[in-house]
Amino acid sequence: MTEQDPTPVDFVRQEVVADTDSSRYDGRVVTRFPPEPNGYLHIGHAKSICLNFGVAAEYSGTCNLRFDDTNPEKESVDYMKAIERDVQWLGFEWTKLRHASEYFEKLYGYAVELIRGGNAYVDSLSAEQIREYRGNLTEPGRESPDRLRSMEENLELFRRMRDGEFEDGAYVLRARIDMASGNINMRDPVLYRIRNIHHQRTGNLWNLYPMYDFTHCISDALEGITHSLCTLEFEDHRPLYDWILNQLDVPCHPQQIEFARLSLEYTVMSKRKLNLLVTEGHVSGWDDPRVPTIAGLRRAGFTPASIRGFCERIGVTKKDAWIEMGVLENVIRDDLNQNAPRAMAVLRPLKILIENYPEEQVEDLKLPNHPQKPELGTRKVPFGRTLFIEQDDFAEVPPPKFKRLIPGGEVRLRGAYVIRCEEVIRDSNGEINLLRCTYDADTLGRKPEGRKVKGVVHWVSEQHAVDGEIRLYDRLFSVPNPESMNDFREALNPDSLKVLDQCKLEPSLAKAVGGERYQFERTGYFCVDAIDSSEQKKVFNRTVTLRDSWGKTARGR
Ligand code: ATP
Ligand code: MG
Repeated sequence: MTEQDPTPVDFVRQEVVADTDSSRYDGRVVTRFPPEPNGYLHIGHAKSICLNFGVAAEYSGTCNLRFDDTNPEKESVDYMKAIERDVQWLGFEWTKLRHASEYFEKLYGYAVELIRGGNAYVDSLSAEQIREYRGNLTEPGRESPDRLRSMEENLELFRRMRDGEFEDGAYVLRARIDMASGNINMRDPVLYRIRNIHHQRTGNLWNLYPMYDFTHCISDALEGITHSLCTLEFEDHRPLYDWILNQLDVPCHPQQIEFARLSLEYTVMSKRKLNLLVTEGHVSGWDDPRVPTIAGLRRAGFTPASIRGFCERIGVTKKDAWIEMGVLENVIRDDLNQNAPRAMAVLRPLKILIENYPEEQVEDLKLPNHPQKPELGTRKVPFGRTLFIEQDDFAEVPPPKFKRLIPGGEVRLRGAYVIRCEEVIRDSNGEINLLRCTYDADTLGRKPEGRKVKGVVHWVSEQHAVDGEIRLYDRLFSVPNPESMNDFREALNPDSLKVLDQCKLEPSLAKAVGGERYQFERTGYFCVDAIDSSEQKKVFNRTVTLRDSWGKTARGR
C-alpha cells in the first residue's frame, strides 16, 4: 500500500496493512481458506472466501485452499470436488491446493516434540471422564492421574496408538497446559484421538487422527500463512493456537484474526443442518435452489458477481449481526435487472382468440432484449390469431383498481396491439377456457385515438409457444431464525416450492441453455435449470421476484 491509498475498509485489512507497513512477516501476505470437506459450501463460506482471497489479491499476496480433512467419518472426495468447483465458480484461484492430511506425518512429529518437551501426555481417561475432570466456568478442572506419566512411557504409548494397537477411545494425547486456566480450551485439550478407520486420502495408514486445534495452527505455520482469518467462535481458541506454536520449532507463527460469521434470516447455514435437510428429503439435494449453498444459489440463478457484491456490501466486522434475506435478494435483483435479457413467458395460461385477426397471418414483431440497453439488440416474437395470456390478467369481476382485461374492456399486449374482450367462453365444468377478443389493427406500437388503455400484459402465441415448467421458489423457512427453534424442521415453509408445469414460453427461449438467466416480463427473474431441462421441456427456476414484495404480500403468486 502506498500512502495515498484510502484507509482499508475493515479491521482485518487494517491489521494486514499495519503488518505489511511494519514489515512483519517481511511484508508478505499469505492467507488460506480452510473448509472441512463434510458438506457443500454455503453463503457464509463465501464471506470467508471473499475475505481470504480478496485480502491476498489486494495486498499482492497468495491464498491457499486447504481441506481440513481430519475427520474421515464425515468427509468425502465428492465434497472436495464440489468445494473446488464452487470456489472457482465464485471467481477465485488458489495458489496451492493443500490437505491437512498431507501433514499427518509432520503433525505426528510435532506431537512427539511436545511429548519430549514435557508438553503433552497420553491419557487413558474416557471422553466422559475428561469432560467431568475439565470443570466449568466457575470451577477449575482436576488433573488426570496420567498427567504424571513419564516421557518415555508417553512416547511408547503414543507410538503404539499410531501402530493401531488400541481400540478407539482407549487413549488420547493431551496437551499439558493448565487445568485451572480461566479459558477452558487451555485445560489440557485433546490433541489426538484413536480412530481405527479408513481415510479418503491416506487409506489405512493412520489409526489416530489429530484434532482441529492441533492441526490447524501447524498447517497454517507449515504453509507460511501470515494472517489466519477465522470466525469469532475461535477467539477463545487463539491462546491455544499460539501456545502450540510457541512450544514448537515451526517455520512461521501466523496471526489469527477473528471476524463475525454471516447469519442470514429465514435459512439455516450449518452443514450439519443442511445435511439433515438433504438426507431427510426436505430439499432435492445440496444444490436445491432453496438452500443457501453456493451450488443452490447457482442453480437458482445467482451470478458469482452478485454473491461477491453481497459479501462486499455486508462487510467484515467484529460483531455478529443478522442479515435480512432481502439484502441478498436485492443484490441479485439489481444485477439481473441490469444484465438479464427480457423474454415473455405465461405461467398460468388462458387462451384468447382474436377473431378479426386474419386466420393464417403471423407477424414477426421485433421486441428489444433490454429496454434500457439497445446494444443488446432485439428478438423476433411471432404474433398470431390465438395467444395465451396470464389467467391473473383477466378478471370477470375485477377487484378495485384492476387495470388489465375485463369483459368488454381493453388492454395492450406488450409490444403488439390493443385487444378487447368480447365474450367469455366456458367449458362443460364452467371453467373459463377461452376469451373471444378483437384487436385494433391501428394500435401496433401506437396509442389508440380518443381512448385511454391503461394496462399492458404479456402474451405468447399459441402456435409458436414452447412448453415449459417453471419452479417458483420461496423462502425455505417461515421464521427469521429457524435455528432458535427446538427443532428447526418445524419451521419449514410448506409453500417454499410451487411447480407450474403448463407454462408457455416465447419461441426464442427454445434455444436457452442451462444456467442462462432472463427477466420474464412482469413475472420475475428466472434461470434455466441445467439439470432437469431437456429438449422436450425447458425448466426454469425463479431466482427472485421483480420487486421486493416479501413481507407485504405473499412473495409467490
Ligand atoms: P458449518 O458450521 O457451516 O459446518 P464450519 O465453520 O464448520 O461451518 P468449515 O468448513 O470449518 O465450516 O469452514 C471453513 C471456513 O469458513 C472457516 O474459516 C469458517 O470460519 C468459515 N465460515 C464458516 N461458516 C461461516 C459463516 N457463516 N460466515 C463466515 N465464515 C464462515
Ligand atoms: Mg467445521
